[in-house]
Amino acid sequence: MTLLYRSTRGDAADALTASAAILQGLSPDGGLYVPTETPQLDLDLKQLPTMTYQTVATKVLKAFLTDFTDAEISACVKAAYDDKFDDPLIVPLSHHGDDYYLELFHGATIAFKDLALSILPHLMTTAAKKNHFKKEIVILTATSGDTGKAAMAGFADVPGTKIIVFYPSQGVSAIQKQQMITQVGENTYVVAINGNFDQAQTNVKEIFNDADFKTQLATHGFQFSSANSINIGRLVPQVAYYFYAYGQLVKQGAVKNGDPVNFSVPTGNFGDILAGYYAKQLGLPVNRLICASNQNNVLTDFFQTGYYDRIRPFFTTTSPSMDILVSSNLERLIFLATGEDADQTTAYMHELEKTGHYQIKPAVLKKLQMTFSAGFASGDADRQAIATVFSKSDFAIDPHTAVAKAVADQYRQATNDDHPMVIVSTASPYKFPNAVLSAIEGHAVEVDGLDAVKQLQDHIQVPLPKAIKTLFQAKIRHNTTVQPDEMQAAITKILKIE
Ligand SMILES: *Cc1c(COP(=O)(O)O)cnc(C)c1O
Repeated sequence: MTLLYRSTRGDAADALTASAAILQGLSPDGGLYVPTETPQLDLDLKQLPTMTYQTVATKVLKAFLTDFTDAEISACVKAAYDDKFDDPLIVPLSHHGDDYYLELFHGATIAFKDLALSILPHLMTTAAKKNHFKKEIVILTATSGDTGKAAMAGFADVPGTKIIVFYPSQGVSAIQKQQMITQVGENTYVVAINGNFDQAQTNVKEIFNDADFKTQLATHGFQFSSANSINIGRLVPQVAYYFYAYGQLVKQGAVKNGDPVNFSVPTGNFGDILAGYYAKQLGLPVNRLICASNQNNVLTDFFQTGYYDRIRPFFTTTSPSMDILVSSNLERLIFLATGEDADQTTAYMHELEKTGHYQIKPAVLKKLQMTFSAGFASGDADRQAIATVFSKSDFAIDPHTAVAKAVADQYRQATNDDHPMVIVSTASPYKFPNAVLSAIEGHAVEVDGLDAVKQLQDHIQVPLPKAIKTLFQAKIRHNTTVQPDEMQAAITKILKIE
């Protein structure tokens, strides 16, 4: 049986194969692709503790991408999860204090998006071959800091592809910026915008949906695709680490096989935590998924009241990858929670675009609250979490992980829920050295960039990842900045299709 993918805003009759959905990225009606049925995972939980990450990933991908052959999936997994990762386990689970930390930061850009973006280019080029695709794939991405770099690391010099990345010039850390502007690869293009992430993302979505522009591209032999977490090919690989984490928990004696656990997930675009929800649907014993936000707490309010309201102040925080007010992947959850009602989902999303808010029905909210809890941590709370975890356990966490830790603590205090807690750790402390150093020292420090990295290493004594070691000798290759309304013109220029 082939599992098909339909748009959250479209007709189930128009469903596509997995490979076609990966190539499309976003559905032409503006919706996101979702499986038409619950995927059937061929995995015995009892075997999980002895499986390698590669085996778990292979099984998860097989469940979702049924039009890929076993050989194709194995080849993609092998090419993705290799010594680009600086830990042989790929996603080790460490235990500090009362918590387990799922370390998703051992890849090429030391943040969790490497897990999906090291495999997406392989899934995409395999999909292109399967679909006899002749056009050159242009990956168009808006990034709040981590996605763009991880996508470029994955796509750099992959034949038949180009990648164009837009990032908010003031919204990323010094390290993130340095990573971005030094990106290698003849097919990579980086453009800063004078605006925030939501503007970049909104404009990318508009450019995607512009039919005239699409035709213009096609006549020049190009077709857009997306490496943003709206691409189902991003989401599916992320399901694997929830299963792997569970196997490690059993292996470490934290739970008996079959007993449920909690995950606290630092959330922005809702891709990471949605993968956890898919894992639960596929049979993983998950008690609660805790949606942790920073000061941009639109999701906290949503899960408490059912009212999604993006009309609110936007805060630039020390966890920039979560500075998001329009959480794209939430649309997939809404679709599921409304009983796969595409009309209702479309109505909510149009309301959000037009008025800035929507209200789901009480019964739908109740359903969501059976699995999801939500909370947020201000800058003070995440600084406190970094300092406390370091002083108690000698373990340095980054500000995104710290938000998840602070919200997990709030949740436990409020509920006395004592299921084992996995803190999903999405970035290395070396990616945000100024913020981590300030938190550990208990006052703002002036240094940033490489100096901050060095000082942080003196404190925490953790070897520098390869990604950081080479960063500050690298040549600057990208220095274009445009206004948000000049993004389409920038693309035209890059692709030379004027
Ligand atoms: C992208 C990112 C997040 C948020 O993940 P979403 O899937 O967008 O919810 C959290 N932490 C880090 C470090 C990230 O890069």
